[in-house]
Amino acid sequence: MQYLQRHILKRGWLIVAGMLYSCGVSLHHSSNKYNTLHKNRPDIASLLKWPTDGIVTSYFGTRHGRPHEGIDISSKEGTPIYAAESGIVIFSGYHAHGYGNLIVIQHNEQLVTVYAHNAKNLVQEKTHVKRGQLIAYVGQTGRAAGAHVHFEVRDNKQPKNPLSYLPN
Ligand SMILES: [Zn+2]
Repeated sequence: MQYLQRHILKRGWLIVAGMLYSCGVSLHHSSNKYNTLHKNRPDIASLLKWPTDGIVTSYFGTRHGRPHEGIDISSKEGTPIYAAESGIVIFSGYHAHGYGNLIVIQHNEQLVTVYAHNAKNLVQEKTHVKRGQLIAYVGQTGRAAGAHVHFEVRDNKQPKNPLSYLPN
């Protein structure tokens, strides 16, 4: 009888320990998605893929006394635009206030990239895109002088210099 009690207690403790362990694992996964992603892809913050082939014609910072929250990559109309990293499309549509045809991709809890003035968007909202996937064609829709991609990186909602996230 005593043996059985001990056995049941021991078994019970093992079950509780097992639950705590699996809880710990699932907690880790839900609260640390960003860190997990970083662990799997330590280069995500420093090495996005260039969204298109072209020449940087306007830099991040102040331009004509107004903030320019991204870089302009000039290219020929119709040049492919690629996702800078895997993620979920959180906006794909026409932006009435200057961005023209616009795509916004969320890569993890804090990192978002923005692609503006596209001739044509090829991906729908709420769909998953892979790094390097064709998502749009270069254009000059919205407030744009000449065909280019206006590319933004937002880290924790703050616009950041995309050049610090792209390979040289
Ligand atoms: Zn721009």
